[in-house]
This record gives sequence, structure tokens and C-alpha cells, in this order.
Amino acid sequence: MMQSSKYRWPCSIMIGVIAVAASRGYVSAAEVAAKGAAKGAMVTRAVTISHEEYLGHIALLAHDELGGRGTGSDGIDLAAGYIAGQFAAAGLSPGGPDGTYFQEFTFPSRSGAKILEDTALRFDGSDVQPAVNTDFLPLSFSTMGKFDGDLVFVGYGATNPDKDYDDYAGIDVDGKVVIMLRREPPDWPGDSRFTTHATFESKAKLAKRNGATAMIIVNRDDDRGELRRFRPDGETYGIPAIHLNRDLAEKVLSAGGLASLSDLQKGIDEGGKPASAVVAGVRASGEIAYETNDITARNVLGVLRGTGPHADEYVVIGGHYDHLGVRRGEIHNGADDNASGTAGVIEIAKALARTPKRDRSVICMAFTGEEIGLIGSKYYTANPTVPIDSIAAMINMDMIGRHNDSTNKLDIQGLGTGSVFKEIVERRAAEAGIEFRPDDSAKGPSDHDSFYRAGVPSLFFFTGVHPDYHGPGDDTEKVNVEGAVAIAELVYQIAMDIIDGDEAPQYVEVDQPAHIDFSAMMGSPGSPMGGPPRGGVVMGILPDRTDDPDKPGWRVVAVMEGGGAATAGMKDGDVIIAIDGKAINGLDDFRDQTKDKKPGDVIAVKIRRGDEEMTLDVTLAARSG
Ligand SMILES: [Zn+2]
Repeated sequence: MMQSSKYRWPCSIMIGVIAVAASRGYVSAAEVAAKGAAKGAMVTRAVTISHEEYLGHIALLAHDELGGRGTGSDGIDLAAGYIAGQFAAAGLSPGGPDGTYFQEFTFPSRSGAKILEDTALRFDGSDVQPAVNTDFLPLSFSTMGKFDGDLVFVGYGATNPDKDYDDYAGIDVDGKVVIMLRREPPDWPGDSRFTTHATFESKAKLAKRNGATAMIIVNRDDDRGELRRFRPDGETYGIPAIHLNRDLAEKVLSAGGLASLSDLQKGIDEGGKPASAVVAGVRASGEIAYETNDITARNVLGVLRGTGPHADEYVVIGGHYDHLGVRRGEIHNGADDNASGTAGVIEIAKALARTPKRDRSVICMAFTGEEIGLIGSKYYTANPTVPIDSIAAMINMDMIGRHNDSTNKLDIQGLGTGSVFKEIVERRAAEAGIEFRPDDSAKGPSDHDSFYRAGVPSLFFFTGVHPDYHGPGDDTEKVNVEGAVAIAELVYQIAMDIIDGDEAPQYVEVDQPAHIDFSAMMGSPGSPMGGPPRGGVVMGILPDRTDDPDKPGWRVVAVMEGGGAATAGMKDGDVIIAIDGKAINGLDDFRDQTKDKKPGDVIAVKIRRGDEEMTLDVTLAARSG
């Protein structure tokens, strides 16, 4: 068990830093104390979390034996068992739907899907016979099954009352196969990136609602040529769906006597009127068949029943326990990300269990699959073990282990999403003498985002990224135990204020994304701009991981100081829409578009900022360890 000298000196640093930090947008103790006094005394509660026990959880969860806790690995199952054991020992009752401490579910690993040989597409009445993989691919949300029907062109497959536009008006597609263009007429989005009419989800549901038996999507003329990669994630919209090569589609439509796709598209875009028509004499038929290798994953849940009048309301205390597993042959132990938060959940669970009276009930939860797209928290909020509207608040801890090391301070986000959050957090932080950087938004790259989007007021505690972020160096000995325990005790106090509060926090929508500061990563071995080159190139941005690759554009969460993008003038929140003239919708497109580029090469990056579009010349850098 590690007890380094570093363990003794952090608190002195903390005091020093508190004095300095006040000037950089941090909420100062004095300020709050003054405000607090007016509001009358807070309940004082003694809580002591053991540093040894806290550290013990991290040392175990981040041990090499657990292999970096990759979702679906043996190591993560060991971690799940350990956490459940800790919940049981603390006296929490099982919170899983089957009476255990686990909420088990399967999801298709996006990377392991296989398109089966039965997958086929035929166009009778034309000499076009497309081949799977080269000429067409199922779309990731496609259902499986056979289809057969007359072919009907339906423009963008959209019904937009605001534009008095309906591709399905006056045409019968019941039992037919519809073929349509991707996205939407360029004048529809206005100053937003796109409207819902452009989404695959909207097009699929509309086609189904109009009785179509299958749908075929074709790129607009300004789209990249490639077919979308087939990466099912289990979400389907109830209809077989295909992405067909535009040139082949062109031939099929002309076999049915229709004008060229460019003319059809131009007519709709400029005339604002649909051009839906039967593709005369052409019948489309085929089958979609694929198999996904499903991964079994588990959220871990323990419950403490409340004893007061609001016992049917719940406060969720959570953090993810998965991490990256083994990458490039190295175990990524994830001590800070997120053994530190998981240890916080366990110790707060124990402290709450020791608390004699609690009004509302508590669910302590460790999420799986956070690193691969918030899979665990998305699954939970879609399959809650208690009514979602009975969850009064959610508190997420993800990376609380690097408080006050070099440049890292505490970020507390989501403050604007719950009516009483600001007052409670400010007063408890002042009481604890902890400085923090406030942010109203709960839209961000961790599990609170799923709860916020499900209508739950949500708070997020985070001590920031660091040079070891998502690197093999994120190890136990670098965790600031004193800082993390102080944060966990603060979270305990805040949670108890909500648990025992007369009023539950009222949900408040805060639409803008939260700010994540990545400056601490710059120039260090783990950062994208430092350390050994790892092949590939970077622009020096951090993309929005919650952004859907099937939707147009690629949102930039943060631009890294000193990086190519920053030098070219890119800003946080910009949306990348094209590189060297090719549309970009996500990391895959970026990688495809830059695969032949070298460090030092310059790319023309077209971005949208508000309703402005501009092109920036970005110098690429080597992608590092
Ligand atoms: Zn994390």
C-alpha cells in the first residue's frame, strides 16, 4: 500500500492555491460566506472519510490485475464484484432489477458487427445489380429482414410544415421501397447546423409511418463519396435501411424515366417544392442480414432507503468504473479516470449509511461503458430501476484525483440545472474551504450528461485533465488522496442537503455545452502535442464525444492552446463541416480525410461559427502517445 511523502504536503499547497485561484473566475470563500450569512445557518454534519480506505479502493481498481477495466473484459467484472461487495458491506441493499447489485445488459460492440451473405439488393426493371460493401451497405440503424416493393423517389423523405413542404404528399408509398437524398435543402437549417428533418432517425420514422417497406438513402452531390460505415449500436428505427452509391442510384432513377439526381436535387433546393415520383417499372427487393457480437456489461447499484416523507424520491450518487483496458500493449490503469470517482462513490455510500436519518432515498451507482459512449448511464436512464421523475438529482464524480496538482482545480458543473444547486454548493464549498470553477451546464463528456438529458438536475465534479489523461501513466501513486477525500466529503454534504431538503431541486434547462479546460494536457508526454509520435496527425482540438457521427458536422468542444487549430483561429464550440472541400461528420471522416497527410501539412478547414461560415488553414501536427 503506497504512502508517499507527497501524501503529507498537498494541504499546504491547497491553501496557497486558494489564495491565487480567486482571481481566475473561481468562487471565493469570503464572497460566499457573506452571502451565506444572510441565508441563516446550515446544518453542520460531521463526516470523516478514511484516507487509507479511500486509497485502498483505488489501489485495487487500478491494479494491473484488473487490466485497465475495459468494458466486456474479465478485469471489469472483478471490479464490479468488488464494488458490489463494498456496497453490501456498507449496508446498502441490492439495487439491480433482479434483486442483485447489478443491472446487466448486452449491447452490440460497434466494431464487431458482421454483414451476412444473405444481404442483397436487386432492382428489377433496370440493369443495375449492386454488390454489398462496394455499391451499398446497410445503415447502422437498419433492422434486419426481407423487403420487396415498387421503387418511389421521395426527395429528402421529409415533411416540414414550417416550409409547407411534404415529400409524401400526394404519393402512395405503402408497401413500397422509397429512395431519398441525405440531409435537407441547404436553406432549411437557418443558423443551426441542421434540423431534425435531416436526421436518419426522422427520415426512417417518417418512411415507416407512411408505410414504406424499406428505405434507400443516397448522398447529396456535396457529400463525400464513401458509404457510411456499418456500425450498429443496437438502436434501430423499425425499417430496413440502405446507403446506396450515388452513381448507381442515378442509373436506377433514369431507368425509371426520372431526371438526374443533380437536377432533382437542384429543383427541390431552389424551387422549395417536392419532386416525388414513382420510378416507373422498377421494383426493389432484397434482404438485410447481419450479426453483432454482443457485449455483456453491468452497472453496479446499491440503495439506501430514506426514512422521511420524501422517501419515494431518490438522489443518485455515481461515477463510472470502466476504463480503457489495454491499448498498444499497455495497461491503462485509470487510477484518476475513474477509480478516483468510484472510490468516492463507495466512501460516500458508507458515510451515508452511517448517517442516522435521511429523508430521501439514495442510489449509489457505478456505471460501465462510459469510455465507449456513456453506454451504462444511457442504458440506465432508458431503463431506470425507479421512475426517472422520482430522481430528484444526480451527482457524478469523474476524475477527482488530481486536485491541485500543477494546474488542476475543481470544476463543479451543472449548477444551473437544479434550482437550489448554486446556493447549496457555494455554501458547502465555502464551509470546506474548497475553491471551484462553476459552470451552469451539465452537457458534457461524462455520465451526468445522460441524466441531464433525461430531465434530472445533475451536478458534475471533476479536477480536470492532465498529461496522463487516457494514457498508461494514469496510476495510483499520482492520485492526490487528500484532495480527493476533501471533494468526496464535500459531495457528501451537498448530497445530504438535497436528500434532506424541503424542496427537491427543480429541473432547469441549460442548453449550452459545459466548458472543459484542456490546457493542462499541452506539451506533456500524454498530450496530443507532446511525446513520441504515434502515427497520424492532429489539429489540436478535442471533439464532442457525444456528437452523433450520423449527423452533419463535427463539433469542437475545446481548441488546445498552441495547436494548429488554435493558431489558425479556431474557437471552442466551432463546428467543422468540411476539410479540403469534403464534408466532415466525425472522427472517422477526419481520419479518412487526413490519412495521407504528414505533420506540417496544411489543410483547409471549413467551419461554422453561429451563422457564419469560414475556412481556416490549419497546420497539422504529429499525433503523440
Ligand atoms: Zn472518465
